[in-house]
Amino acid sequence: MAKTKAMLLEEIYKLAFTKLVEAGSDEHNASILSTVLRNAERDGSHSHGLFRLPAYLTGLKSGKINGNARATINEITPSFVRVDGKQGLAPTAHNVAVPALVTAAQKTGVAIAAIHRCFHMAALWPEVEAIAEKGLAAIACTNYMPSVAPAGANKAFFGTNPIAFAWPRPGKTPVVYDMATAAMALGDVQVAARDGKKVPEGTGLDSDGQPTIEPSAIVKGGVLLPFGGYKGSGLSMMVELLTAGLTGETFSDETKAQDNADGGPPIGGQFLLAMSPEIIAIDDWQEHCDSFFERISGLPGEGVRLPGERRHKNRLSDAPRKINLELLEKIALF
Ligand code: NDP
Repeated sequence: MAKTKAMLLEEIYKLAFTKLVEAGSDEHNASILSTVLRNAERDGSHSHGLFRLPAYLTGLKSGKINGNARATINEITPSFVRVDGKQGLAPTAHNVAVPALVTAAQKTGVAIAAIHRCFHMAALWPEVEAIAEKGLAAIACTNYMPSVAPAGANKAFFGTNPIAFAWPRPGKTPVVYDMATAAMALGDVQVAARDGKKVPEGTGLDSDGQPTIEPSAIVKGGVLLPFGGYKGSGLSMMVELLTAGLTGETFSDETKAQDNADGGPPIGGQFLLAMSPEIIAIDDWQEHCDSFFERISGLPGEGVRLPGERRHKNRLSDAPRKINLELLEKIALF
């Protein structure tokens, strides 16, 4: 069992903020980033909390990531905003992209945002949840660097290419799913390798192209597999096309070819879509959907739940969070 240290949410925020500023981020951006990292720990989204801080710090220190970035918005049409992340980390781009997208979708019914030149490596639920909290349905996806072999291949080509979806429920927390199209997110495989745990069959192949349940064999020279075979592979290809083909950003293999391999995240883009049920749906859309969710939650079985519920339950606790001690030692070295 890995050793942990109990930390209050404000201590998590302060640690991230201090380290980000020391690494070259200005206070405005450090505050946005520390909030996202703290919220990930708050919600039990461990692979996207402090675990990501070393890579952020590495990229800031090498000068690859712009710690003073102020993303800019370009309204191309009433329903399309192009966002230049100015080489900052993705949450600093979301800070301006989400309000602009929400405003556009509330006017037109449907809008998209194409984010360019940002460093992602974060969970997607913060941005889709923020959009849903404004009464809009949202879809987000992003690509990364190759770590997943398309169905039938044993060489990495796709990123772990997450897709997130959020549905607004005024007065309640939105229903949110946020998932890698890989059988397991790379961060979770890295966490399993660190903690000496096995991963389920079907997660990945070792460096000889053989199936393995050893996370370290996947991380060191192996590849991840898409979830659900060719079906997940098809969704992952869709993510590549929306994130790179549609927005003009790089596909995962192109991203790798351009990256300086400093251990920080690579530059890339993100696709965001927002839709207004208020404008598109029939009048009683909230009651209609609430009753749908109630019917799902009421189904017999071993414990059906709505996606997002686990995080939202974790959020209610103000108890200290357990942070991996090895990770804290690693962060202290920056
Ligand atoms: P999980 O497999 O842990 O969860 C996927 C989704 O399924 C979540 O919304 C989760 O909700 C929901 N869920 C899980 N169990 C159940 C259940 N029993 N019933 C109903 N819903 C359930 O996520 P992944 O490991 O695939 O992804 C983890 C994170 O990694 C994501 O936030 C993703 O954005 C991020 N990621 C980021 C990448 C990047 O390049 N930026 C790349 C790949 C992944 P809940 O949260 O409530 O458990």
